[in-house]
Amino acid sequence: MTISSWLHPHLEKRNSDTEGHGIFARADIRKDERLAIFGGKIMLIDDMYQIPEELQRFTMQIEERFVLGPSGTVAEDTDFFNHSCCPNSGFKGQVFLVAMRDIRAGEEITFDYAMTVSESVGSDMVFSLDCACGSPLCRKTITEQDWMLPALQDRYQGYFSQYIQDKIEARNAARAGELAGSDVIVPENETAVLLSR
Ligand SMILES: [Zn+2]
Repeated sequence: MTISSWLHPHLEKRNSDTEGHGIFARADIRKDERLAIFGGKIMLIDDMYQIPEELQRFTMQIEERFVLGPSGTVAEDTDFFNHSCCPNSGFKGQVFLVAMRDIRAGEEITFDYAMTVSESVGSDMVFSLDCACGSPLCRKTITEQDWMLPALQDRYQGYFSQYIQDKIEARNAARAGELAGSDVIVPENETAVLLSR
């Protein structure tokens, strides 16, 4: 088996209370420490139907049209990070997972799938996941629209997958531009000057 991803040596796959398997810390990990680097095969979202069905859930969206999928025929340990609505890890770039806070030995490592999933372009595929993570912040249903929620944008500032972080910043800039546009002060004599030309 060829391993295409990297997992922090203090992390390991174990049985999880929430979802079959999960990734757990064997030792303490500091905030912003790199936890995993995801590798694999880059494919158009619709092409993920071409990989074996049991592997399709291990794809991760890395852009509006692309996902990163398993490069082999079996899942790797890095495919088993579970979703949580109150996660302890997030993204730097598209494929680096880092600790969002200090993590204690024994904790499960989770990220919020809203950090990586958005509406796909050029595909009819719609992402939706029922969640029972047990967090007081649980949204019950995780959708491809969740990255737009202001509360998540506050909590995960700088930890969304880079392509979503860019979308958020573009929207904020557009909004700021609209505000600035409506606030432009027109000098009183400007109309007169224009008319006189
Ligand atoms: Zn949840």
